[in-house]
Amino acid sequence: MSREWAAKMMEPFTVLIVDDVRTNLLVIGQCLKGLYNVREATSGAQCLKLARSEPQPDLILLDVVMPDLDGYQVCKALKSDPMTAEIPIIFVTGRDTDEDEQRGLQLGAVDYITKPIRPAIVRARVSAHIQLKQQRDRLQFMALHDQLTGLYNRHFLVETASQRLARVVRHRTPMTVVLLDIDHFKKINDNHGHLTGDKVLIAIAKLLNANIRKEDVVARLGGEEFVILLDCGLDIAAQKMENLRGLLESMQPEGLKVTGSFGLVEASPFNADFSHLLVMADDGVYRAKSQGRNRVVCCRAEATVINKPKHTDQQRQQEG
Ligand code: GH3
Ligand code: MG
Ligand code: MG
Repeated sequence: MSREWAAKMMEPFTVLIVDDVRTNLLVIGQCLKGLYNVREATSGAQCLKLARSEPQPDLILLDVVMPDLDGYQVCKALKSDPMTAEIPIIFVTGRDTDEDEQRGLQLGAVDYITKPIRPAIVRARVSAHIQLKQQRDRLQFMALHDQLTGLYNRHFLVETASQRLARVVRHRTPMTVVLLDIDHFKKINDNHGHLTGDKVLIAIAKLLNANIRKEDVVARLGGEEFVILLDCGLDIAAQKMENLRGLLESMQPEGLKVTGSFGLVEASPFNADFSHLLVMADDGVYRAKSQGRNRVVCCRAEATVINKPKHTDQQRQQEG
């Protein structure tokens, strides 16, 4: 599920019609015109290509009898590719025996419409299945994202981290785990109210999203704690986080100065356990806090502070 789910919900739904006979494309296209963004494919191969390209179809109306790849083969291929497996498929076909219909449904199609089509029935079924898909996507989004900030949640983070750690072990790819804890966040709530606190968290999430590459992962671990998974080693990660620390310090969400303490740890095949890495990153945060907050601390065998901001936490407190 992508970060852009909410944005996608604003766009018209896309329906891909697949049929090797142009007249059929025209007839089906006519009954969906104006309701959906309609795309057309005249072969199985073209269908597979369009199903993977943007805008990805929200539903596919698939003919069965086609030269080369037939509808059943196309359906199988779509269902076995994680990128297209979730797209609902409705077979639209002249083959109307029970066996044909059963086969289509067994392959994972959600519905089966026989030709000659009745436009009102096609429209009703397409609409019903698109609504179901929308509800499914919404539930999936909610299961994997944090409600307040829209960032990935802890559940998604744990799943993804273990997948990425498996890659670290198998292919020795670099990976750094970052724990970011916002400094004195309780004071923001106490002094300006919980609602302002929420707005600050949302602004921080936006800043993180805008400044972390798509390949990397940003999640809200809980409260005012965020985790970032970077696919680079510790030195590059430290530079990136130092940059982010500076951006956070100068952001002033809700007119308030907000800073964060960052704990970094590099994953290796010898420590590839996410809970262990989180404990180590948390140790980095702890050290950052005790050294004055608003800083990036890397955990190796020994913790190393890589930045010392001009304004220490103590100075800020004195300044009020
Ligand atoms: P430190 O610099 O040591 O991290 O201090 P802190 O105040 O940030 O840390 P502490 O753990 O004492 O407080 C975290 C606060 O975050 C307490 C809690 O009320 C607040 N918080 C947690 N979740 C939310 C939330 O969703 N919204 C708001 N507004 N506040 C939250
Ligand atoms: Mg905390
Ligand atoms: Mg905190």
